[in-house]
Amino acid sequence: MAFHILVVEDEAKLAKFIELELKYEGYNVSVASDGFAGLAAARESHPDLIVLDWMLPGISGLEICRRLRTTGDKVPIILLTAKDEISDRVAGLDAGADDYVVKPFSVEELLARVRAQLRRNQEENPDRLEFADLSLNRTTREVYRGDRLIELTAKEFDLLEYLLAHPRQVLTRDQILEKVWGYDFMGDSNIIEVYVRYLRLKLEANNESRLVHTVRGVGYVLRESQ
Ligand code: CA
Repeated sequence: MAFHILVVEDEAKLAKFIELELKYEGYNVSVASDGFAGLAAARESHPDLIVLDWMLPGISGLEICRRLRTTGDKVPIILLTAKDEISDRVAGLDAGADDYVVKPFSVEELLARVRAQLRRNQEENPDRLEFADLSLNRTTREVYRGDRLIELTAKEFDLLEYLLAHPRQVLTRDQILEKVWGYDFMGDSNIIEVYVRYLRLKLEANNESRLVHTVRGVGYVLRESQ
C-alpha cells in the first residue's frame, strides 16, 4: 500500500509540481489549496505525511501545525517556507513541524526529506504494521492482504495487531489471552482457536499462503510458510 501524502500549498503551479513528483515516486497524493481545507483534510483523511506551506490563505501552516499537535496528531509535517531566518525555523519546529524546506528548493531535496520523515515515523511510531503481503493501519483500522481489503471484527483486528507487532515470535496462549482479551477474561480459552480460525479464513480467502501458524502445545506465531 502506498503512503498517502497531503500537500497544502496555495500556489497552484507549485502544488501541481509537487503533486506530480510525489505521484511519480509512487505516493498517493491529495492537495489542499488553503489553510482551512488543509486542516480539514489532515483531520479527515489521516495522511501519512503532510507537506505544508507556511504562508496560506485562511490559517497559516504554522497554525495548522499547532492545532494538529494540540489534538495529539503526530503525522510527520514538512514545512515549506520562503523565509530563511533562524527565528522562523525555530518557530516552525516549536509549532511541531518535523522538518522544513526553504523555497526555492530542489525536488530531490524535498523527496529526500519526505523519505526520511516517513522512515523515521515508521520506526518510532509504527502506525502501520506490515508483514509479508499483510498490512494493518492502526489509525484507520484497515487491513490489507496485498491489494485486498479484509473486513475484520474488533477482536479479530486486535488479535492480528498483536501478532503483527511480534512477527516470528511464538506467542503463548496465555500471552494472547492476556493482551487481546484482558487479564480478567473468564471465558473458554478455546476462544483463541475460534478466532484464529476466523482470521485464517479471512486472510486466506483467496488461497493465499498461511501466515498465522499453530505451535502445538504452546501458542501461535506469525511467520511465512516454509
Ligand atoms: Ca503560500
